[in-house]
Amino acid sequence: MRLRLRRNDYFPTIAYVSGAVVLTSFAPALKNIRIMKKNILITGASRGIGAATALLSAEKGYAVVVNYREHGQNAAEIVRQIHHSGGEAVAIGADISKEREVQELFEQAESRFGPITALVNNAGIIGLQSTFEEMSLERWQRIFSTNVFGAFLCAREAVRRMSTRHGGPGGGIVNVSSLASRFGSPFEYVDYAASKAAVDTFTLGLAKEVAADGIRVNAVRPGFIDTDIHASGGDPGRVERLKSQVPLNRGGRPEEVAQAILWLLSDEASYVTGTVLDVAGGR
Ligand code: NAP
Repeated sequence: MRLRLRRNDYFPTIAYVSGAVVLTSFAPALKNIRIMKKNILITGASRGIGAATALLSAEKGYAVVVNYREHGQNAAEIVRQIHHSGGEAVAIGADISKEREVQELFEQAESRFGPITALVNNAGIIGLQSTFEEMSLERWQRIFSTNVFGAFLCAREAVRRMSTRHGGPGGGIVNVSSLASRFGSPFEYVDYAASKAAVDTFTLGLAKEVAADGIRVNAVRPGFIDTDIHASGGDPGRVERLKSQVPLNRGGRPEEVAQAILWLLSDEASYVTGTVLDVAGGR
């Protein structure tokens, strides 16, 4: 519903009540209308795509939860930059592959800002480049624990809190998949590619399951993006080496992925759910 107010009709007084903005001294008919504050939780936001998404979210008016696992200093720097620009942010450490830590992450986030209205399941890892036959079970478990089960755990916490069926405000979830799910990453990270294929399918199923509960679920599938993840796979020059495979003839910037994520979360994408959006320069 769209509210139309004539100028001079009313001058609202605004108060924060448990994370929502409540108009307290409007005309009687409009009293107690709740306008939800926009709160976003981004996993793995201490660097790369997550950090770029955190900074852009703050620009777009979100209070930002900057999750990290190891690099608390980096996360604190992202928070500092947001505060410097007049935004709201907090850094919260949690390993998203651990159920208890994920629950505590959401509890701390909510006690700080109120209900989370957007989740970006961004945290993800790769192993060192390797052929499939050389890979260990321990490695597969590590990759899937973060990339798949970590995303599941965070999405479950988010859905339980956002769902209008449980009295929540609704919201949006964006999963960060990878173009690897379409290519398979042979001789490099077949396990990682398979984990991202799971993220794609999870996106489709969850979107249908919670559509009636006020939650939209989408994914982005980045191509070669210039971040530190490639160094963690033992190939820091990977984007430069492979960029000629990209029709746009360059690697992508984390900020370009962040733009797609924020669009999917925005009201401009209000009719978009269950969609996996490639952000890959045409590859
Ligand atoms: P990155 O620079 O390596 O950053 C990874 C982030 O994830 C870091 O903030 C890291 O936190 C966090 N993280 C890792 N494991 C975690 C865990 N268990 N719990 C909480 N946080 C954890 O990676 P990126 O390139 O920005 O990638 C972000 C996402 O995009 C990933 O899902 C990745 O698969 C996907 N992606 C990237 C590319 C690319 O070319 N860069 C392409 C396709 C898809 P700490 O540093 O604090 O440990």
